[in-house]
Amino acid sequence: MHGLVIKNTGSWYQVKTDDGQFVECKIKGNFRLKGIRSTNPVAVGDRVQIILNQEGTAFINEIEDRKNYIVRRSSNLSKQSHILAANLDQCMLVATVNYPETSTIFIDRFLASAEAYRVPVKLVFNKVDAYNEDELRYLDALINLYTHIGYPCFKVSAKNGDGVDEIKKALEGQITLFAGHSGVGKSTLINAILPGIETKTGEISSYHNKGMHTTTFSEMFPVDGNGYIIDTPGVKGFGTFDMEEEEIGHYFPEIFKISADCKYNNCTHRHEPGCAVRKAVEEHLISESRYTSYLNMLEDKEEGKYRAAY
Ligand code: GDP
Ligand code: ZN
Repeated sequence: MHGLVIKNTGSWYQVKTDDGQFVECKIKGNFRLKGIRSTNPVAVGDRVQIILNQEGTAFINEIEDRKNYIVRRSSNLSKQSHILAANLDQCMLVATVNYPETSTIFIDRFLASAEAYRVPVKLVFNKVDAYNEDELRYLDALINLYTHIGYPCFKVSAKNGDGVDEIKKALEGQITLFAGHSGVGKSTLINAILPGIETKTGEISSYHNKGMHTTTFSEMFPVDGNGYIIDTPGVKGFGTFDMEEEEIGHYFPEIFKISADCKYNNCTHRHEPGCAVRKAVEEHLISESRYTSYLNMLEDKEEGKYRAAY
């Protein structure tokens, strides 16, 4: 029998089987996963094969290959990672232009790390009810910028419900991870999408207060139209990833496109002669803020402290 892991308590997993049953499962045996040493072999979002025992218990027998996953590195020195979620279809990055301001550098680093992990991102600009005219104009400029690059954008007010229906529509049939700085209104938005989830979030918090490792518990919540949302605390990007300097530009789609015209094919778009990207920035075909974020990531790389979207 096959199913989808929708909850991981640290000691057992809840699996929704393809015929719609909810089954509590344990793990049988040791899973070895390619290329990753993790503290949890199974994560929410995993497609698994389960076997039901006669006495009504069940165990996970096999994990299907993941199309992607996000990890959090454990703080110890064992280099082990914790898999927060697997098989994401998309990510909604909640951002604000004020209260607090989400920087474009943060947005761009997040987008670049999502490109590296091949997770499509949609940008959700929240708190539109609270902005003055200047802020609204700036917001429209940002939306124009990111829409043109290929990232769908939404304007919402989680507080008064504006735009929430469009978000709900975009969640149908997808496993969606919500991310964003704390304070941007992620919980308020999720509560607007799924009234009643508040109590569940409360349960999770009380778990934490009892000293449980915050990382061991994760859950996906079903939404209308056969989708799921994942609200894992503290996701700020898609982990760290090693890349060569000239690769960073690959994760800025509009820079990558133009870089085909650079004189050198390993151009880093800084000082090289014949750089088509710098020319495009001067001609305002590539946005200054995106280019700044790109340089910022290169600098981190140079200083050997590359931290992805963190
Ligand atoms: P989280 O840390 O991202 O989960 O943010 P919260 O959902 O806890 O919201 C942080 C603060 O922003 C709270 O005081 C919310 O009431 C407020 N907030 C959330 N959404 C909106 C919104 O759309 N408009 C306004 N004006 N405030 C909001
Ligand atoms: Zn170049």
